[in-house]
Amino acid sequence: APVPPAAAVPFPARGSWQRGPGAEVRIEGVCKQYSGHPVLQDIDLHVRPGEVLAILGPSGSGKSTLLRTINALEKVDRGLVSVDGEFIGYRRCGDTLYELKEKDILRRRIEVGMVFQNFNLFPHLTALDNVAEAPVAVRGLTRAQARAQARELLARVGLGDREAAYPRQLSGGQQQRVAIARALALNPKVLLFDEPTSALDPELVGEVLDVIKELARSGSTLVIVTHEIGFAREVADRVVFMDAGRIVESGPPAQVLNAPTQARTREFLAKVL
Ligand code: ADP
Ligand code: MG
Repeated sequence: APVPPAAAVPFPARGSWQRGPGAEVRIEGVCKQYSGHPVLQDIDLHVRPGEVLAILGPSGSGKSTLLRTINALEKVDRGLVSVDGEFIGYRRCGDTLYELKEKDILRRRIEVGMVFQNFNLFPHLTALDNVAEAPVAVRGLTRAQARAQARELLARVGLGDREAAYPRQLSGGQQQRVAIARALALNPKVLLFDEPTSALDPELVGEVLDVIKELARSGSTLVIVTHEIGFAREVADRVVFMDAGRIVESGPPAQVLNAPTQARTREFLAKVL
């Protein structure tokens, strides 16, 4: 569905995606169930501006659900999520919160970019048009501005020579890099990655991780669900380990990955390392 223009959000000058620290994310007391089965249980998490947070945990532990609460793809049963001081899904008036209308939720959602395991590119659009499409629709860029920006972003992810290619003509690693460029094209305050390399052949993982590393260095706030332990150790400022809908352990990579305090973290790491 088309997203309404965000007239109130001025689009920064072209190339200014090197815009210094990203925004903060606050998750407070978040609970979520599916048909009586708790999926997120009282989650508290504060991601600082420009922080790179890696989320680890077994399948079914709630990692994707937690990530999706940050851009309101997932509605919480209890608790609050805010990005850059704005509540996701709510507007504050005095001490009262009011639920936002769907179109206002969409407007707020575009401030949070998301990159999925399976790329989710538009198959009928070239790499360039995949990246140029949304900024015209939701940021009010002209077609020419959006295409110029898309060229810069494709170059930034190492695909300056593939702008005319369709997704099916690209490798998985290249498709995922287009997907990252597409997310960046909306100049998000926060970028979320849900297992961005899990669908890739092993030899293509590195090229995608290198792009994410570059984003990390540029000061973006990144929240990355990943099973790439080496990558988390190298790039993350902090690692969170989740199990059964809870944050079991959280700390610097050297602590959580090398000297976990919780038995469940140790068991998990013993399996994946
Ligand atoms: P992870 O990403 O850590 O593998 P998820 O967040 O995808 O975990 O899922 C956590 C739990 O929530 C799982 O038990 C899963 O089956 C359940 N779940 C996720 N999405 C839905 C849904 N739309 N409807 C019902 N159950 C769901
Ligand atoms: Mg998942």
